[in-house]
Amino acid sequence: MAETGAGRFAPSPSGPLHVGNLRTAVLAWLFARSTGRRFLIRIEDLDRVRAGAETEQLAELAALGLTSDSPVVRQSEQTERYTRTLEQLRDQGLVYECFCTRRDIAEAASAPHAEPGLYPGTCRTLGERERARRRAERPPALRLRTAVDTWSVDDVLAGTVRAPVDDVVLQRNDGVISYNLAVVVDDAAQGIDQVVRGDDLLPSAPRQAYLASLLGLPVPSYAHVPLALTQQGRRLAKRDGAVTLEDLAALGHPPSTVLGLILRSLDLPDVSLTAALDVFDAAVVPRDPWVVDPAHLPAIIARPAPRQSAPTDKVHQ
Ligand code: GLU
Repeated sequence: MAETGAGRFAPSPSGPLHVGNLRTAVLAWLFARSTGRRFLIRIEDLDRVRAGAETEQLAELAALGLTSDSPVVRQSEQTERYTRTLEQLRDQGLVYECFCTRRDIAEAASAPHAEPGLYPGTCRTLGERERARRRAERPPALRLRTAVDTWSVDDVLAGTVRAPVDDVVLQRNDGVISYNLAVVVDDAAQGIDQVVRGDDLLPSAPRQAYLASLLGLPVPSYAHVPLALTQQGRRLAKRDGAVTLEDLAALGHPPSTVLGLILRSLDLPDVSLTAALDVFDAAVVPRDPWVVDPAHLPAIIARPAPRQSAPTDKVHQ
């Protein structure tokens, strides 16, 4: 059979996955499989790494039946590829050194007419002399000389999304390759043509698609799925209560039961991943955040699984 591309789940190994992260992983698997794609797992370990978390996360995913069709890729092992890409952009005259501190950027961004959260281009036009002087004070970050103000992507759930594209950081001033560069390089190198992830990353998609197009790489299709939120509207976090497989197993709820809860929250049959895949339809994925009350999660999980999903079994608000 011809290769048909791949979808992926790409966690940062900063700690155990909670039910919200696992739900995104289940969705990434369902989107990939329902479109005949392979499913890959990539560990995004350039930053925010906690010892042991990678092994823990892979075991959690496997416990739900989510394994990578190709060996798991670690970003920390792709450095050469990132360096080559940086060189390519540099050869195109698209890289410049930035000496701004966080504070400089915050101050510049609060100036009248500045777009909040966007880099205002302070170091874009520094002359060689000034750069040499600044280099002696502080190692530079490397930024992309962006030629557009906005870029758009098509998202399966959100439709066409146009967002500002600023001079994104390609390499931080501590030498670490930026998430935006790494993700674009890795998705292309792994043949990933479908990106399914939390909708907190939707604003980053246009700049990533722009970067891919500058590099002559194919732009993947996107589906940014709703996150799990607490009842207060905050992003669910481990500290919110018994929200990881380990916590829930300690309360007597095995991974299969947690998978059932996740599938019910997606209005899918909760018996197995394959049963869910049989009826999965991307067009009817819930568009609202999954509101989780960690205090009641164990009780909700413990409820006998219905044969068919019913609205009362959802943890949606
Ligand atoms: N590593 C990112 C995270 O865990 C996800 C990046 C992506 O899916 O593009 O939030």
